[in-house]
Amino acid sequence: MDSVGVAAAAPPDAGAGPAWQSKCPWGTPNTTSISCSLADVMSEQLAKELQLEEENAAFPEVVAVAEGPFITGENIDTSSDLMLAQMLQMEFDREYDAQLRREEKKINGDSKVSISFENYRKVHPYDSDSSEDEVDWQDTRHDPYRADKPTTTPRRGFIGKGKDITTKHDEVVCGRKNTARMENFAPEFQVGDGIGMDLKLSNQVFNALKQHAYSEERRSARLHEKKEHSTAEKAVDPKTRLLLYKMVNGGMLETITGCISTGKESVVFHAYGGKSATEDKVIPPECAIKVFKTTLNEFKNRDKYIKDDYRFKDRFSKLNPRKIIRMWAEKEMHNLTRMQNAGIPCPQVVILKKHVLVMSFIGKDQIPAPKLKDVTLSSEDMKKAYYQTLNMMQQLYKECNLVHADLSEYNMLWHDGKVWLIDVSQSVEPTHPHGLEFLFRDCRNVAQFFQKGGVAEALNERKLFNAVSGLNITADNEVDFQAEIEALEKMNEDHVQNHGKKLSTFSSDGDPPIYDE
Ligand code: ADP
Ligand code: MN
Repeated sequence: MDSVGVAAAAPPDAGAGPAWQSKCPWGTPNTTSISCSLADVMSEQLAKELQLEEENAAFPEVVAVAEGPFITGENIDTSSDLMLAQMLQMEFDREYDAQLRREEKKINGDSKVSISFENYRKVHPYDSDSSEDEVDWQDTRHDPYRADKPTTTPRRGFIGKGKDITTKHDEVVCGRKNTARMENFAPEFQVGDGIGMDLKLSNQVFNALKQHAYSEERRSARLHEKKEHSTAEKAVDPKTRLLLYKMVNGGMLETITGCISTGKESVVFHAYGGKSATEDKVIPPECAIKVFKTTLNEFKNRDKYIKDDYRFKDRFSKLNPRKIIRMWAEKEMHNLTRMQNAGIPCPQVVILKKHVLVMSFIGKDQIPAPKLKDVTLSSEDMKKAYYQTLNMMQQLYKECNLVHADLSEYNMLWHDGKVWLIDVSQSVEPTHPHGLEFLFRDCRNVAQFFQKGGVAEALNERKLFNAVSGLNITADNEVDFQAEIEALEKMNEDHVQNHGKKLSTFSSDGDPPIYDE
């Protein structure tokens, strides 16, 4: 048995740092201790030496590229350069198109037959969608250790008959195969055209390269993460900036004027609306852009809202954190649309792009409407606001089948003499495993606010809960009330366990629950 095969199959030692940080990417793998015959050692070393000689002569620049950005890249912000380049390109494309349009006009003049340069345009009205094709690096990165598909060597490990037998350890075949396998390295890892040059990589050299590719990949992933985290804290990360820039460049937004709010989970900007790409859609004169932060840690504690939301259940398990954040934005969009359809005063959705939600701006001339907590209302207005809020909570529950789940004077704006509801990314359906608890919390916030605000008619939290949900929980103290709420939720969960589906609503007065058939 040829022991070179053992070297190729041996799992590379992921922690063998120092050996691979030497100047040459495939370094001097002198730490490998594989027992094999003297002849094998000789041929391996010889092969390696020849290989290095050959490669140093053939691709000095490849070596430089493979080393350069990774080792010296710590303080070079290449992604910003990339963004700058992309922005310049867009600027250029736009000018180019304007020029095309002018020429088109000149040529066509008043002629009845006209020609179009449409196909030569660089920026297309719907081109802003192209960013949808960009896939996160998490999705595309290759696992260099993933088992290769068998190509030339069959399962039994040899081809041919009798004396002409070629085993999978045959040096030439194996070398070529190793060269081909470099294609499996991460995309950013420059491997050059080894196949074209009929390069034959020995197992040891290949393993060294594989090791290097793998550790560099992890290293660049770490750098990538670091950058994302640091910039997301301040304003938005480069990818988001590009996304926003595209919206302005595409004409959908006129200008982004500034930041209205920086919260833990989102940053909100004000923008003046531009022109829509489609006739039927009107972009509001003023827009609010809610950018969901890509800083992952803030979202961890919100998992339970979405994980237990059956609308997202199937998708949740398959997603990476970045996608989950996009789902928050998506959720806010869907919830706002439901509310809009029910006629509840709330921002109108303009567009959703990844984790960026554009909606109508509640306020005027760049000044956002004040939150209920910040505005001083006359007692008359306060009373009006209370009844309106009660009404909206009922509509939200009955017509939209939603519980706000973060309702308070912080997420209600006072504008045009009425209350507007915002911030509904965490809203859930009442049959969510904790839906009724969330509703009770909302009711407590609302009741306390209006009672403190001097509205004598304001119901206490328990009465408000019953008024909104239509349930008839009779407990006269908070502890028992909450126990009953939890019992109802549990009943619903048991029903899911037994019947594989949820109740569509909770019953209102002790009748058997209504099932969604
Ligand atoms: P967060 O999750 O950060 O609380 P919100 O949706 O509540 O996100 O937005 C934060 C703040 O941004 C709000 O308190 C409000 O002042 C402002 N804001 C959000 N959306 C709008 C909008 N459509 N119009 C005006 N102001 C808005
Ligand atoms: Mn909020």
